[in-house]
Amino acid sequence: MALLHISGIQKRFGGLLAVNGAGMDVADGELLGLIGPNGSGKTTLLNVLSGHLAADAGEVQLDGRSVLGLNPTQLTRLGVLRMFQMTRVFNRVSAYDNLIVCGLAMGLDEAAASRRALELLDELKLNHVMHLDAGQLSGGQKKLLEFGACFMAPPRIALLDEPFAAVHPVMKETMSEFIRRRNQSGQTFILVSHDMPVVVDLCARSVCMNAGRVLADGPTQQVLREPAVIEAYLGEQEQEEQNHA
Ligand code: ADP
Ligand code: MG
Repeated sequence: MALLHISGIQKRFGGLLAVNGAGMDVADGELLGLIGPNGSGKTTLLNVLSGHLAADAGEVQLDGRSVLGLNPTQLTRLGVLRMFQMTRVFNRVSAYDNLIVCGLAMGLDEAAASRRALELLDELKLNHVMHLDAGQLSGGQKKLLEFGACFMAPPRIALLDEPFAAVHPVMKETMSEFIRRRNQSGQTFILVSHDMPVVVDLCARSVCMNAGRVLADGPTQQVLREPAVIEAYLGEQEQEEQNHA
């Protein structure tokens, strides 16, 4: 059975069908790439999965149980975590204590929270700033800290929407290594990214969306070679060129 089974999702904004019957299965332990040109419905689909938007039709099952219609808090409790929703870094609290606070909120005891926090700070290369107030960290470091906070108690499935956007290349490397290692130890992800080299590198399988539908689903390299996928990206490029003209 798939960890997450998604089928026939529709989400309408007025006259626009942002998601138009998209579906896919995500296996336990998979790191699935979700790609597609701008406006193809990736973020909207993630918002439906995390309960931030209500779908107009379709089905989402987690471990075979229907979860469509639950709110974000209920879904987070079940382990469906949309990252960067939790944008609250406490600026006047140290980086270390930010993680501790999240860990305690997620139900860890103090010893476990402390152990996890130190592991994560190490993994995210934030040890040297752990005692600084989070407000003193750079934008990229704050992003890594938020990232760490989400993993104080690992979710069943982590939904990442463009985590590398506007992140310094060095931090991007730290972040992608973090995702790779977590996945190697069994963490399930859906990763939305425009950064094809990273998607190719990290994701064995990808789903490409266009106009709210799934265009292709399979091994990442194979998906990227599909004529329909190439055409969809060419369409996006033309659109961008027109916008700049
Ligand atoms: P992607 O993440 O693939 O770039 P989105 O899911 O953000 O695509 O958007 C899909 C389509 O839905 C786009 O045409 C976008 O303009 C539209 N859209 C997204 N959110 C809203 C909203 N809250 N209200 C109206 N239209 C929206
Ligand atoms: Mg998006």
